[in-house]
Amino acid sequence: MLDLQAQHAPIQPELDATLRATFQEAAFIQGSAVQQFASELGQYLGVPHVIPCANGTDALQLALMSLGLPAGTEILVPAFTYVATWEAAAVLGLVPVPVDVDPATYNLDPAAVAAAITPCTGAILAVHLFGQCADLEALRLLAEQHGVALVEDNAQAIGATFTTSTGQVWGAGTVGEVGTTSFFPSKNLGGFGDGGALFTRDEARAQRLRQLANHGQSRKYYHEHIGLNSRLDTLQAALLRVKLPHLPAWTAARQRIAAQYDAALLGHSRLRPPGRDPRSTHVFHQYTVQTPDEPGQRERLQQYLGAQGIPSAVYYPLPNHLQPAYAYLGHQQGQFPVAERLARTVLSLPMHPMLTTEQVAYICQVLQAWE
Ligand SMILES: *Cc1c(COP(=O)(O)O)cnc(C)c1O
Repeated sequence: MLDLQAQHAPIQPELDATLRATFQEAAFIQGSAVQQFASELGQYLGVPHVIPCANGTDALQLALMSLGLPAGTEILVPAFTYVATWEAAAVLGLVPVPVDVDPATYNLDPAAVAAAITPCTGAILAVHLFGQCADLEALRLLAEQHGVALVEDNAQAIGATFTTSTGQVWGAGTVGEVGTTSFFPSKNLGGFGDGGALFTRDEARAQRLRQLANHGQSRKYYHEHIGLNSRLDTLQAALLRVKLPHLPAWTAARQRIAAQYDAALLGHSRLRPPGRDPRSTHVFHQYTVQTPDEPGQRERLQQYLGAQGIPSAVYYPLPNHLQPAYAYLGHQQGQFPVAERLARTVLSLPMHPMLTTEQVAYICQVLQAWE
């Protein structure tokens, strides 16, 4: 599915030197690399404030904490997403309210979002799933019209852009009041352990987020807010600084691989390639196809691929509204049919920047022969 050793081999000497230098400096918490990385990432994304934190789940929690919403406020979340998106709301006593997704792009359906907004809604928490932007223009408009916040979970789409109807180019994660990301090792920009960050254009919010991520303090031992201990390690920041300049080339490689898959699946009788929103670029955190919605078909494809040495994975097999942890919300099977169908049918193919054209051609050939 992913080959981190191959990805790191060409930059190994630089990573080694960075490790040594960081150990030498011995400023393991809030060392200079943390701020340097934040400003370099901000430059790359075109956002003035980047606040590093300990992981992508904390980033979501901090984003919601910065909104200062009272317990019980409803947060609209996609029915089809990684559990962290829901968790962040639930642990704060906010109510994750699932909204069904678009069957082609797998992202929030703006019409369903509009229908789910109530006087109790405090925020729309959009996810740019698998590397493609949700409909940022429609979601931002809805948020403005209803006076609710837009928060972007951008753990999977770092570097993706969305072009609006007036031709403005927006960076994923930089459009809402707050955006978040993750540097979990398998993400498009992955560290060597956990890491995360928040993005905002608002100076006051940036300051509040910085405090929230550091025990709510403005200066040492003076606490304005109830915060978290959620910092990015100096070591992670230093190593991420080595990887960041390679991200555009790695993204281009993912897009080249996706184009190869697209061409092979064009007109495939049994497999549906991921749908594209022409307004968004896609950075292909995953390349996720839909198998026929018949019992056992996905598992049959997965076994068939496995037998020919091709790994694959299911993101995500059980929608959050049917997870035991969220049973207290009282949702039923059948309430979010698109999310439920995707959970039954999706399969993600191997995707990482070091896959060669020959390797992808082999996978394509095997896929084409599947009926
Ligand atoms: C990975 C991921 C997260 C959580 O990030 P961690 O760094 O693992 O906490 C949140 N949301 C989505 C959509 C993710 O893919």
